[in-house]
Amino acid sequence: MRPPEFDPAVCAECGAPLTGAWCARCGQRRLGPGDRSLRHLVGEALASWVNLEGRWLRSLTLLVVDTGTLSRAWIEGRRRRYLPPFSLFLLVNLVFFLAPPMTDFDLHLSDHLGQPVYGEWARGQVGERLAADGADFDRFAERFGETSSNVSKSLVFLHVPVLALVLLAAFRGRVWTAAEHTVVAVHLFAFLLLAAPLLNWVGFPILSWAAGLIPGLQGRLPSIGLVGLGILLVAWYRAVVRAYGVGRRGAAGLLATLVAGLAVAHLTYRFLQFALVMALV
Ligand SMILES: [Zn+2]
Repeated sequence: MRPPEFDPAVCAECGAPLTGAWCARCGQRRLGPGDRSLRHLVGEALASWVNLEGRWLRSLTLLVVDTGTLSRAWIEGRRRRYLPPFSLFLLVNLVFFLAPPMTDFDLHLSDHLGQPVYGEWARGQVGERLAADGADFDRFAERFGETSSNVSKSLVFLHVPVLALVLLAAFRGRVWTAAEHTVVAVHLFAFLLLAAPLLNWVGFPILSWAAGLIPGLQGRLPSIGLVGLGILLVAWYRAVVRAYGVGRRGAAGLLATLVAGLAVAHLTYRFLQFALVMALV
């Protein structure tokens, strides 16, 4: 059988008549004689790869540099150039857990036991378990740690719905939809997940090295926790200003509520992580 010649007047995919370069019914591009060539085959693959790479890089860069503009683009319907929010979150989640671990999202067993809120309960749980199994603490802590790193990967997203609820409550009765708040929450938390390893493994070491070169600054740099908190506050403040178009006072109030929400979300996450790991080991 002879291969088909593409008719430039009819969509090859669905048969609809074509009025432009793309089919108005199914979205396929108009095909012509050149589309049977090897050059087209390779070019098509390259184009889709470059397009995908471009979206990843563009979205990740904008997320770090200007989080709120990324949210604003989604809200205003400019969604083609960036990864959809949940896809972006999955990508950032992956980057976060491929980067060398930081202890804050994957606590050592003894840190759980020292928690002011649920530490006492946790000590009781571990004590009972050790007595029942006849295991010693170090061996149990090691097993706990192995399971814990997997559990933290799957639970870390829990911060997002809490932040989204905070935004929903703060804007109660206004024009924004739950999805719009969720997108802002996804971007705010994805910023944190991406910025934390960047600061920990790249930014802060460079900052410490640079400070070491200036005689008056040696050993006077604030702690990494303080630098991180400062960056988070500035970035989230700018983000809510951009995303919602609120004024300075509104943004400051929103920021305070969000930080409180983050603390609650993080405590809930740690507690659930402990409880789930205990159920699994
Ligand atoms: Zn078509």
